Amino acid sequence: MRTDYHLHLRPDEPGATPERHFTAANAERYREAAEERGIAELGVAEHVYRFTAALEVWEHPFWREWARDDIDDYCGFVREETDLRLGIEADYVPGREDRMGNLLEGRDWDYVIGSVHFLRDRSVDTEDYSVWGAGESPEKVWRRYFETVAESALSGLYDVIAHPDLVKVWGNRAPRPDGDLRYFYEPAVEAFAEAGVAVELSTAGLRKPVGELYPARPYLEMVLDAGCPIALSSDAHLPEQVGFEYERAIELLQELGVQELAVFERRERRMEPVG
Ligand SMILES: [Zn+2]
Ligand SMILES: [Zn+2]
Repeated sequence: MRTDYHLHLRPDEPGATPERHFTAANAERYREAAEERGIAELGVAEHVYRFTAALEVWEHPFWREWARDDIDDYCGFVREETDLRLGIEADYVPGREDRMGNLLEGRDWDYVIGSVHFLRDRSVDTEDYSVWGAGESPEKVWRRYFETVAESALSGLYDVIAHPDLVKVWGNRAPRPDGDLRYFYEPAVEAFAEAGVAVELSTAGLRKPVGELYPARPYLEMVLDAGCPIALSSDAHLPEQVGFEYERAIELLQELGVQELAVFERRERRMEPVG
């Protein structure tokens, strides 16, 4: 069963309101695009920081700028007006695990996706607040990034760890460490295995300057050697991005002998043949 669990029903733009995008007709556009591409199982994972409740977790100016919407309205809409799985992309904020746990608690997610977009108050993947430009060495940034990804897995908050090497997003527009990158991946892979989380194979990196899948092939090989389940996603922000470049992802999974994908329902995971 092919899945696309990491869908956003709207672009990351201030004018993309729930009134315009959280509608049955918009969900149907994603469903139609998925059907054309043979993807049976779809779920949404809206950014947690677009909900006002997120400001009880963290008050970074980026979050203050974006937090506008009501999280319960979102959950109600997905459950009542769509046939999509209900997920959320919940940033990992070190030290705020209890607060994020409180936000997630009591809402009936099918899955919770954990992502690391910030290292302290510096952003990995946006030009505003960028982690790059403060003169830190790429080795230091990468080490801190993968340690934070490891902590996110061990926090117990998440079912799936998203785009697990997002730090490479800028490709050669940002500095990158030399040598064997597996040294950086190691702590994250150990944590995934210990925590028993699924790891996302995301085609979103193919739309970004880096032009690669997340995770990179050697990283994915380590994840598979460690026995971690894979969740397949496009991180689409538009209907036409559903299942984006899935051929490349599926080909890689076949080459590496992966026959099953993780499927989620009410935070229970089972494995289904890729198909
Ligand atoms: Zn993300
Ligand atoms: Zn996302």
